[in-house]
Amino acid sequence: MPRVYIIDVTNRDGVQTSRIGLSKLGKTIINMYLNDMGIFQSEFGFPFTHHETNYLNANLELAEMGVLAPLRLEGWCRALKKDVDLAFKLCPKIKHLNLSISTSPLMLELKFKGKMTIDSVIDSMVSAVKAAYRLGAESVGVNAEDASRTGIEDLIKFAKAAKKAGAKRVRYCDTLGTDGPLILYKRMKELATKTKIAWEMHCHNDLGMAVACSVAGAKGVIDGGQDAYINTTINGMGERAGNADLLSVLLALKYASGFKGKKLFPKDINLDKIWAFAKYASYAFDIPIPVNQVGVGANAFAHESGIHADGALKNRRNYELYDYEELGRGEQELVETGRMITVGEYSGIKGFRNVYGTLEVEFKNDKEAAKILELVRYANVNTQKPLTKEELFFVARYPKQACKILTVTPPK
Ligand SMILES: [Zn+2]
Repeated sequence: MPRVYIIDVTNRDGVQTSRIGLSKLGKTIINMYLNDMGIFQSEFGFPFTHHETNYLNANLELAEMGVLAPLRLEGWCRALKKDVDLAFKLCPKIKHLNLSISTSPLMLELKFKGKMTIDSVIDSMVSAVKAAYRLGAESVGVNAEDASRTGIEDLIKFAKAAKKAGAKRVRYCDTLGTDGPLILYKRMKELATKTKIAWEMHCHNDLGMAVACSVAGAKGVIDGGQDAYINTTINGMGERAGNADLLSVLLALKYASGFKGKKLFPKDINLDKIWAFAKYASYAFDIPIPVNQVGVGANAFAHESGIHADGALKNRRNYELYDYEELGRGEQELVETGRMITVGEYSGIKGFRNVYGTLEVEFKNDKEAAKILELVRYANVNTQKPLTKEELFFVARYPKQACKILTVTPPK
């Protein structure tokens, strides 16, 4: 039976967004959380972009070591042979790529200024896919940018050519968030049925429907007999009004009427890290979680009015659709209100040892402690705010990879 998979695009679409950024260490921690949750794939960056190189290669090393596994790390490129060539030059061990190109008549006219037709777009995509396999890719997906404003026949032509070239998936990009869930279900079912290739849903939230469109589209793909992949981001971060929120998509697949019990929820995923993950991402992005955010907002399990509080106290199912324990919530958190020692770029060994002592991390000897302290200083230069326990653990456990991630050298 066809299945639903999650491809999280926080480290690509999330961070390319205006006024949203992550340190390379932050991007790595996002990958660690995605792996811990059992997410299928992380679109972990831009392999043809020089300042990403060390971060990407270090993360590929972590994958080889089994630290970032079974998560698949996939890079985003334009569907141009020259991007693919550069990607493999800078990241020779990259195994998974998604190659993107616009397909809508509107973008062909207004973006490519009429210099490209749907046929030349397909030619460029096919030569990029072939180049990727020649250079060692194991899986390639192709992205139809602005698919929602592309005619169904052109999408079928694009998908069939992609499949023939060896692509494993086609990404349906609702780039402007213009589709509604009803039309998307119909279109995806038809596309899956007629092309016999897996489809990815990539939906934006300009009309507040990114999650609804993602799950409706995925159901269409499944009903069309193919695997469906949903693109998500943590806390819904992404261009303009954002992408489909990771947790909302997963809860919809699990609990929404019409989806519940249909085995759409990916079987390898656990939700008990999402509370910590969402909070980490909020800190790393410097963007607060709205109080009404699905599952992880401060009000997601709060009740005050007489009828609601009474009902929730009698039985949680009166007013709670799912349990906060499932999302890793419910434990009391200790907040230091007195003396606090943090570590940063100007820390010394005593404060450093104190902080790692509270995390119960021990060092073999003073030499090792001094080496990690130096890395922690650089990590703070990278993040520019007090390091979190996730970041401190990472640096202590994987110093070689941390050193690489923290090294950014502009090309001469
Ligand atoms: Zn996007």
